[in-house]
Amino acid sequence: MEPFIRSDQFNYIKEQINHLINAHTTVNDSGVLEAMSSLTEEKVKNVFPKLHDHQAALLNKSKEIVDQADAVFFLSQLRAHVIPFPQVSEDKLKNLFPKVKKLKIPVLEGIDLRDISYIGWNDYGAKRKYLVTFIEGDWHGLEGSFSSSYQENICTICNSHEKVGLFSAKIKSSGDHLLKRGNYICQDSMVCNQNISSLHNLHQFVHRMKEASF
Ligand SMILES: [Zn+2]
Repeated sequence: MEPFIRSDQFNYIKEQINHLINAHTTVNDSGVLEAMSSLTEEKVKNVFPKLHDHQAALLNKSKEIVDQADAVFFLSQLRAHVIPFPQVSEDKLKNLFPKVKKLKIPVLEGIDLRDISYIGWNDYGAKRKYLVTFIEGDWHGLEGSFSSSYQENICTICNSHEKVGLFSAKIKSSGDHLLKRGNYICQDSMVCNQNISSLHNLHQFVHRMKEASF
């Protein structure tokens, strides 16, 4: 079976499975549990616009999950079908940031590309953060100043309460003047990636940081 699950979809499924296990430890009513199991299966399958029979058969097993051991087994089966983030060479990264003279290259060794929806890294010395996304066949590089915040806050990309920082970038508007736009995002992009259960916010963020009219 070809990989068919994106990293964010895998995280979403994991969330639903966790809700279901929680229900099994806190709810006694078998009718309620049965309804929750069916709902979990439905939610898990609705993530995908269309499914082949063998893919649906794999996801159907979500409704049989009762405890942590079942969940671990189910998720390990799913993991084999997660699409890795595309490989990106050092030259490619440099091309995405043509104006940056000394680009600090991220360390990607040891990172399982199935765990990420974007590449993000910090250059703490220069107080800058870099993000690389691959959206519908197009690579995007985002670069901005980054100042860590002392308090936790909601991240614009993953929508979770995490240690964040203000990412701000200059955007060219019509008439060629620059406007500055800033958003709080996770300091640690690996943590952020683990929290992403939908690509919607990530895509919005990229558009907003690229286009003045957005
Ligand atoms: Zn985040």
